[in-house]
Order: sequence, then C-alpha cells, then structure tokens
Amino acid sequence: MQIITDPSELQSCCLAWRMQGLKTALVPTMGYFHAGHESLMAHARSNADKVVVTLFVNPAQFGPNEDLAAYPRNHERDIAIAESHGVDVLFLPEAGSMYAPDHATWVDVPELAKGLCGITRPIHFRGVCTVVMKLFMLTLPKVAVFGQKDWQQVAIIKRMVRDLNVPVEIVPCPIVREHDGLALSSRNVYLAEHERAQAPAIRAGLLQAKGMVADGCRNVDELAQAIRRYWAEKLPDGVEDYLSFVHPDTLAPLERIDDAALCAVAVKLGKARLIDNIVLTEQSA
Ligand code: AMP
Repeated sequence: MQIITDPSELQSCCLAWRMQGLKTALVPTMGYFHAGHESLMAHARSNADKVVVTLFVNPAQFGPNEDLAAYPRNHERDIAIAESHGVDVLFLPEAGSMYAPDHATWVDVPELAKGLCGITRPIHFRGVCTVVMKLFMLTLPKVAVFGQKDWQQVAIIKRMVRDLNVPVEIVPCPIVREHDGLALSSRNVYLAEHERAQAPAIRAGLLQAKGMVADGCRNVDELAQAIRRYWAEKLPDGVEDYLSFVHPDTLAPLERIDDAALCAVAVKLGKARLIDNIVLTEQSA
C-alpha cells in the first residue's frame, strides 16, 4: 500500500490509473478506523480495480466549538487496517495542503443541509460537500462508498452529484453496529462507562418506533412520544439534539408515515454526540 500525503501526487497516480482504463473506488474517512470503515473498504475492494482510502480530519466541516482538536487519531493502527483490506493508496494530507489560505470556493446543498444535523451544525455539510468534491477531483473515482450511519450526508452527496453531473456512482453501505445495537463511531471512544451502558438505548428506541409502524401506527407524534418515553427511562443522561421523521431522499419532514419514511436522531451523551437512523417504511413501488 502506498501512503500519499501530497494532493498533486494523488491526482497524478489516479489519473494514470484512469488512463489505463482501471476503475477506482474512493472511501472518504476521518480515520480512527472501526468495523464500519472496514465494511466500506471491503465493499470498495470487491467492486473496483484500485481502492483509495482518504484519511483527513477536515477542518471545514467542524464548527468553532466542535471537537476538531480532540477528534481521535491513530495513524499507525489505521495504516495497518487499510493495508489488511488490500487498499492501494491511503491518502493522508495535511490541512494546509488541502486548503489554500485564501480558499474561497464552496459546494453547498442548503435545501438538504438545513435540517437534522444542519440545525446545530450549520456549516458542516458545506465542508463535507466541498472536501468530497475535492477528493473526487483528486481521485477521479468510478464509485465512492459511504455509510448509511450518516444518512443525511449520503442524501446530500447524491443530490450534489446529480445536480452537478459528477460522473461518480455513490454507493451507500449499511450501518455496522456493536452486538448491543450501538452504531459504531469513532466518537464512541468519548463515552464514559455509564454512558456507554446507556448508549444502545438510542437504537432500541428507534426499533420500538419501527415496531409501532409495523403494527399500523402512522402518527409521527405518537412515535416520537414513544421513543422519548423509552429514552427517558433507559437513556437518562442523553440529551436529544433532534428526533425527526423525514422522507429518506428529500429529507423533507413528514406529518404522517404514508410512504417512504426515515427516523433520524442525534443525542448528546456526555462528550459524545451520537447519530443514528432507521428506515421505517420503504418506498412503495
Ligand atoms: P467518518 O470517518 O466517521 O467520517 O466516516 C467515514 C465513512 O464511514 C462515512 O461514509 C461514514 O458514514 C462511514 N461510517 C461511519 N460509521 C459507520 C458505521 N457504523 N457503519 C457503516 N459506515 C460507517
């Protein structure tokens, strides 16, 4: 596996592959790998000739009071994990090589970025879209692989790619979880022991709602109440950031569960802000 830190070197390498007719899969990450990241690498490996994993804690997607400096890092371990998945290139740039001091160009999808995580993280998705577009330009991938844990991110990137005619196929992969249901996240390391013990209740609350929908409940207020009641009992240290019922593609808020519906949540638990989601109903044909 080659480790590249210089953006122009990455671009030359990927351009050469492209000119040879090779298919590149891109996996953008912020590192501190867990089995969720590994599932994306495995998917990329089995669906492309060349796999590029990028490891960049992108300052542009962190707000001023967020955890940019504290974000967990372990390059040595990450390098070994990427290598074990047959990754061809691990891109590890410095922030200064990705953003010129007078960087002035942004990619934004405000209609989809304003709700859910965008409510408390107003610049987050502008930073994500901009860095993902830069990574597309540097790696010229045929496919890019993303996790559905960040459902809003996938919806926004799909829309960006459609709107700007970007020739990259966006491949969403399922959420990988701990045995007790907690969605894997690099930020789970922030959890104190008693918080970690409560954290599976986030998912368990969502499963209650899914069960109610399967039993015929269509009322989002009733579903929200049931989740909040469950959390009040099982997740006493959690502070709800949002609990929303939206259309899975447009992310438009739903008044009733009639057709396709997603429930997406963010909960602050100690120092961690954890997100999760569940598809309540698929699109009917
Ligand atoms: P991150 O390093 O947290 O920015 O995540 C990099 C990629 O891994 C994103 O596409 C995430 O959606 C994905 N990812 C993170 N956690 C999980 C998980 N538990 N299951 C599947 N994909 C994940």
